[in-house]
Amino acid sequence: MVASEVRALFAVASRPEVVSLAGGMPNVSALPLDDLGDIVRSVVTDQGATALQYGPAQGDAHLREQICAVMAEEGIDASPDDVIVTVGSQQALDLVTRVFVDPGDVVLTEAPTYVTAINTFAAFQADIVHVSMDEDGVVPEALEETLARLESEGRQAKFFYTVPTFQNPAGVTLSSQRRRQVVEICRRFNLLVLEDNPYGLLGFESDPMRALHADAPDNVIYLGSFSKTLSPGFRIGWALAPAAVRAKLVLAAESAMLSHSIFNQLVVARYLDVHPWREQIKDFREMYRRRRDAMLSALEAQMPPGTTWTRPGGGFFVWLTLPEGLDAKAMLPRAVSERVAYVPGTGFFSGDEGRRNMRLSFCYPTPEQIREGVRRLAGVVEAEIAL
Ligand code: PMP
Repeated sequence: MVASEVRALFAVASRPEVVSLAGGMPNVSALPLDDLGDIVRSVVTDQGATALQYGPAQGDAHLREQICAVMAEEGIDASPDDVIVTVGSQQALDLVTRVFVDPGDVVLTEAPTYVTAINTFAAFQADIVHVSMDEDGVVPEALEETLARLESEGRQAKFFYTVPTFQNPAGVTLSSQRRRQVVEICRRFNLLVLEDNPYGLLGFESDPMRALHADAPDNVIYLGSFSKTLSPGFRIGWALAPAAVRAKLVLAAESAMLSHSIFNQLVVARYLDVHPWREQIKDFREMYRRRRDAMLSALEAQMPPGTTWTRPGGGFFVWLTLPEGLDAKAMLPRAVSERVAYVPGTGFFSGDEGRRNMRLSFCYPTPEQIREGVRRLAGVVEAEIAL
């Protein structure tokens, strides 16, 4: 295990004079705090005897039903029996890895990929093999080639970990056509898919994409989360898995923590019952869309030629590629002294790639701060080019 680059940065980036385009913290300022206060109070007064006890290891049954309604937005037709509530989707990632991965086992991921997933797989000593990506998500031909190569070496990957929608860190989304291809290739190679989808309902331009799970329920473990559509403070995520896998995940969860906080689960369940959560998500989408627009137009106006970036249709992140010869990690101290922070790209790969890349988040700062942050960053890039 190694300290994540994002975590090491938090101390610097949280200084008030620094515009942080680094952390991926959801913007909880839009939440209805008074309503949530009433909900918490009613959980204590009406359901205290249950809410203040230990709960079932698989999670509250009513919340699991509601989670199925949330997933239906992405075309998933699931039974609450196949859902396990976890401490954020992060715990689901840990449990799936715990159940499947022995030291040296191959895990496939997109390149770049979610930094904490890399850390989780590394903690279980997985051999992380990357598959390349472009603006439409993972490249099916590259996935197929990698699987064929592994097969010829007599190796079988344990699963393919993917964030198909508004990916962290690249901000790209797997196209509909590629979704069909990826599912078909994984089925043909008898490979389990681990679909991590915390941003799926945060699209700015269109209806939610159909989840991979919707078309391959026997072959896909789906991970979801309320961290981005409600609040990360409750730490409520979930896994939806084929029955045999789900049973193992419940056992693993039990041995890890006995049970999740039933109190938090009942608060979220009541919120979903009494609050118009779809409207709340629309508000979040609108707020993040304005921030995305501010970032893209500022990049367009300010960045020197030779710099490129992705144009996310939702989620939190833009992935930027610096001109040839520049190094985002080496440049970071200069950026911080110019009062702007980002995450260097190298942390999002298991190997030595990503030197010219950085992840910029638009979720937390205001549009004005984003414009100012990009202005400072463009100045730093220009100064580096001039060196
Ligand atoms: N997966 C991805 C791709 C994420 O970006 C995050 C949050 N940064 C998570 C999982 C973890 O989310 P949670 O708060 O549900 O543990």
